Formats: sequence, structure tokens, C-alpha cells
Amino acid sequence: MSKPGATAEANRQDPKDTIFAKIVAGQIPCKKVYEDDLCLVFDDIAPCAPVHCLIIPKKPIGGVSDLDGEEHKKILGHMMVTIPKVAEIKGIDGYRLVINEGVHGCQSVRWLHIHIIGGKQLSWPPG
Ligand code: C5P
Repeated sequence: MSKPGATAEANRQDPKDTIFAKIVAGQIPCKKVYEDDLCLVFDDIAPCAPVHCLIIPKKPIGGVSDLDGEEHKKILGHMMVTIPKVAEIKGIDGYRLVINEGVHGCQSVRWLHIHIIGGKQLSWPPG
């Protein structure tokens, strides 16, 4: 089943033109959970579980297929070690991390983001 918004057009977007660019720039609000120099974490606007946050880099990276080089390694490594802090803030023990990449991966916002999903017993496999 396809997902609204996960279109080829959305996935051709320059990350700087996405809604997450506006969130990082403070031009539109978000429910902020955590922030530092490299990343921002906020509650997903359409949560699929009791806890559903997105961790995003502050620098514009469209998705996993755009990852390259030392700076991206530093940013992604930083995001990964930030996730347990987010879990602690949210009080969740056990969670799922999801990165949707491209049209077939159902990515709808072309700015790299990791979904942090938890707060209940999750099932497996996903669709
Ligand atoms: O992986 P995907 O690109 O589909 O995820 C985008 C996520 O961004 C969705 O879960 C959507 O609910 C969320 N979103 C948001 N705030 C917005 C726009 C989208 O939390 N303003």
C-alpha cells in the first residue's frame, strides 16, 4: 500500500525547500523534545504510537542515499548516540528506529529523519 506524500515529486525536492528546513529555521513550530548544535528532535505531528519522535540533522541532507563523507558520518553518529537520550527523556524502554528512503521506502519529506517509535509493545514485521 502506498503512503500519501511519498511521491516521486516529494523525493526530488531540495531538502532546503522542505517543511523540516522551516522547522530547523524556526519558521514553523514543532513540539521540541531535544536540540543541540547538530540535531533536532520533535514529536511527529501524526504519531503512530504513544511515543513517536523524529530526529533530524540541522544540516540539509535529503536522505540515506545522499550520505557521503566524514561530515555525514559525524552527524549520523551523533544522531545515533542522541537516541538513547531521547528514550530517557520520553521514558521509553524498547523502541523501533525507522528510516524511510525514497519513493519505494515511503519517504514523504526529503530531509533525512529517523523515526523513534515506542511507548507500547510493537509488532513485527512491518508492512
Ligand atoms: O518517513 P516519512 O518521510 O514519511 O516521515 C515524515 C514524517 O514527518 C511523517 O511521520 C509525518 O507525520 C511527519 N511530519 C511532521 N511534521 C510535519 C510534517 C510531517 O512531524 N510538519
